[in-house]
Amino acid sequence: MSASPTDRLLALLHADPDRFTKDLYATLFALAPETREMFPANMAEQRQVLFDTLELLLTGLGTDDEQDLIAFLAQLGRDHRRYGVTSAHYQAFTKALVWTIRDRVGPRPDPALRTVIVRLAGITAATMDGAARAEAEHTPAYWEATVLEHHRLTRDLALVRLQADAAVPYLPGQYVSVQVPQAPGQWRFLSPTIPADAHGLLEFQVRAVDGGQVSPRIVTGTGVGDRWRIGAPHGALEVDRQAGSDVLMIAGGSGIAPLRALILDMCNYGFNPRVHLFYGARHPGELVELATLWQISMTNPWLTVVPVAEDPEDPWWLRTDPELLRGGLHTLRTGTLAQVVGSYGSWSDRQVLVSGSPRMIRSTVRHLTRIGTPADNIAYDPY
Ligand SMILES: Cc1cc2nc3c(=O)[nH]c(=O)nc-3n(C[C@H](O)[C@H](O)[C@H](O)COP(=O)(O)OP(=O)(O)OC[C@H]3O[C@@H](n4cnc5c(N)ncnc54)[C@H](O)[C@@H]3O)c2cc1C
Repeated sequence: MSASPTDRLLALLHADPDRFTKDLYATLFALAPETREMFPANMAEQRQVLFDTLELLLTGLGTDDEQDLIAFLAQLGRDHRRYGVTSAHYQAFTKALVWTIRDRVGPRPDPALRTVIVRLAGITAATMDGAARAEAEHTPAYWEATVLEHHRLTRDLALVRLQADAAVPYLPGQYVSVQVPQAPGQWRFLSPTIPADAHGLLEFQVRAVDGGQVSPRIVTGTGVGDRWRIGAPHGALEVDRQAGSDVLMIAGGSGIAPLRALILDMCNYGFNPRVHLFYGARHPGELVELATLWQISMTNPWLTVVPVAEDPEDPWWLRTDPELLRGGLHTLRTGTLAQVVGSYGSWSDRQVLVSGSPRMIRSTVRHLTRIGTPADNIAYDPY
């Protein structure tokens, strides 16, 4: 049986993905030189992302997944507004894509192959551009905000409070993309630690990642008066109040941010499902939100907070108030979050929300599913 046109095209692109994406971007930058500065200096990761996206579209368009892919492209289009992408840029991208593919398939592809190429190029740019233009009618490409406060909570953790020029409409538990003046052109996701505020107040907890290009600059270099750009909100981490089940929350380090926002939001309701929060870090002194969370739990009996530390002793640069660890109903548990949470049973009847570093999310989700928590009950942000 002969290969389908999609498979033939995929085989041609797979012959040398790196060359293909290099040629595509070179053509795009020749057609629209101003787009070069929308991308990072090192394009390796970007090229890989583009290739993976094209492959996903090629295999999914024309199948049952098409509607999901179109929704994904629309979201991508709305996201790209923050870079200043215009309709002319989408047209240049379409040309660059078609020309680069044509170089591989030859000037006269057979009709079936031509249909696949036209559909790929047409749907991609048109959907992204259309969604971006529709959203531009009622939402700015990004919001601007001024830093009001910057506190170093620990050696590698900072709290940043900002005043946005206008309220940023996000749901508790969602994350936003952020660009700071110390790293122009580089957007990173951060999760607000408070629910959306009608007056535009924002608060983030940022951990400096070793060797990171942006987070260490936020932690060490942020100054009062800095202007940040805040992009569109994303994510669907939420407490499903209709589900009727209780909630297990598991937060590692600065992963507490979206769960803190959800808990603060829940305080506005008279009735809530029970929430069992395991809040973990390497050392007790890094559990910077513990005092606040315990305070909340004292007036909101639906909330239980269990502190977890991999090492119960603080190193010399951290100091935990011994009174603090005596302040809650639950004593400090030692171990990784996965071990400690798992030691309580399978939690199979709970909605489970996990938030933290990619490593922490991976190991916690793996552990929970292994001990019997249904994978469908576990929610976490992409990492
Ligand atoms: C949905 C979502 C929400 C997020 N919310 C927050 C938040 O509220 N507060 C916060 O501080 N960070 C948050 N992050 C992480 C943040 O977006 C950045 O990825 C992180 O700050 C690293 O950026 P960087 O530029 O310093 O590192 P990069 O230069 O991008 O990466 C440097 C190295 O660090 C690794 N790395 C990237 N991110 C992490 C990480 N989180 N943990 C460990 N290693 C990592 C990379 O793989 C790479 O090897 C969130 C990420 C996602 C996906």
